[in-house]
Amino acid sequence: MESVRNFVSGELVDAAGGRFLDNVEPATGKVYSRLPDSDERDVERAVAAAEAAFPAWSSTPVEQRSKVLLRIADLLERDLDRLAHAESVDGGKPLTRARAGEIPRAVKNFRFFATAIVHFSSESHATDRDAINYTLRRPRGVVGCISPWNLPLYLLTWKVAPAIAAGNTAVAKPSELTPMTALLLGEICNEAGLPPGVLNIVHGLGSKAGAALTKHPRVGTVTFTGGTVTGAEIARAAAPLFKKISLELGGKNPNIVFADADMDRAVPGSVQAAFANQGQICLCGSRIFVERRAYDAFVDRFVAATRKLRIGDPLEDGTDQGAVVSRGHFDKVMSYIALAREEGGRVLAGGGPPEGLPERCRAGFFIEPTVITGLDATCRVNQEEIFGPVVTVVPFEDEDEVLEYANGTPYGLSASVWTENLARAHRLADGIESGTVWINCWLLRDLRVPFGGMKHSGVGREGGEEALRFFTEPKNVCIRYAREP
Ligand code: NDP
Repeated sequence: MESVRNFVSGELVDAAGGRFLDNVEPATGKVYSRLPDSDERDVERAVAAAEAAFPAWSSTPVEQRSKVLLRIADLLERDLDRLAHAESVDGGKPLTRARAGEIPRAVKNFRFFATAIVHFSSESHATDRDAINYTLRRPRGVVGCISPWNLPLYLLTWKVAPAIAAGNTAVAKPSELTPMTALLLGEICNEAGLPPGVLNIVHGLGSKAGAALTKHPRVGTVTFTGGTVTGAEIARAAAPLFKKISLELGGKNPNIVFADADMDRAVPGSVQAAFANQGQICLCGSRIFVERRAYDAFVDRFVAATRKLRIGDPLEDGTDQGAVVSRGHFDKVMSYIALAREEGGRVLAGGGPPEGLPERCRAGFFIEPTVITGLDATCRVNQEEIFGPVVTVVPFEDEDEVLEYANGTPYGLSASVWTENLARAHRLADGIESGTVWINCWLLRDLRVPFGGMKHSGVGREGGEEALRFFTEPKNVCIRYAREP
């Protein structure tokens, strides 16, 4: 059985305590590898390696850093099939999705920040004709990067690439549920010539290895993507140590369909937004609101399109829907479907595990794409993040009402609006409380734009300049050149 190992100072090593955790393949429900159960000793070792690498890496010319990152991107691209296969087995997602979407995005993350850093500049401010100020932006030191299981390599590289492009060194803690592509990334970094210690990867439990990293006194910067409850814990641990933190957290995103929308785009777009990656994307549109006069027709088309999604072995080419990530997560999602029934919801499609899975997948964690109507916007199912293949559809009368629904949760990550009315689209974009608003689309990402959430969906923004600003420390230098009066 293949073992995942920690990556410290360019070497693959086991946890200091010699303990392992099981790694389960979600499509089969069986243990297929193991990973180090790291603790604070392993984090200490990784932080020491990152500290040792910092002076040389932070003073390496930007162009040279950029070249190494571009090589990493090329090698990820060369190994696309192998990485996609690993990601699919590890997380239960369709192989076609990993191959076409997520691994290519990891390549893009490295390529984007390798080139962005070459163009990164700072400001200068002229103070009348008395003085000039300029801002230095230096790397901050050792950065802790904590990432979740839903898009493992995509989100890990979204953090690591800008952190090291900016001259920091990093200690990453991927989710214990999906460690495999992080292991492969370490090997690729060595092959690309990334100096030892610039990136270190410590595997293990969030409550142990993750917590040790967050509270480590010599890790001054923490970037975290994950659930809102964990985000609050990280903020609590980081605050007394005055760490700089970026938190990308959960969402309960509205997907708003007006009667004037182009339904040939709105229906498939809403299906994608609801069920991509088995609904396990923080940006999924899990609450669909449809203008009353289009409601019945939309629901019919939406349910028909949902029933066409093929659920099955993630490794098979025609599969649209794979398994959810773990037994625990399966139970959580199923408990919300039960709660929806208790709250008076009608299940129009899905509602539980599918029939007719291939033999290999009989003990896997599969849930049919589930469509629920008959719930109001304030019930628990419409307030809490489910993070699975479950969507609700609720009618609305007018713009004011739907804006109240859209903003009526503690979250504020993203929203989609489907309409052909330009003025209305702008009004909604202005009024919705979320970090991203998509008009007539979903998940159309440009890596230059600020990305993050409002309210309980996060603190700070990543992406483009925002990321490079986050991973650097500004220092203003003021030079007076006017003669004394
Ligand atoms: P978690 O918050 O459970 O975990 C995220 C990461 O944090 C994992 O690596 C986890 O380790 C680690 N962790 C857990 N507890 C601690 C701790 N006390 N200290 C430090 N690290 C810890 O999230 P999930 O992995 O379940 O991911 C799903 C969540 O992520 C959803 O809420 C989703 O909305 C959100 N998300 C947000 C995105 C955004 O950009 N806003 C994007 C993608 C997902 P381990 O898993 O090993 O316990």
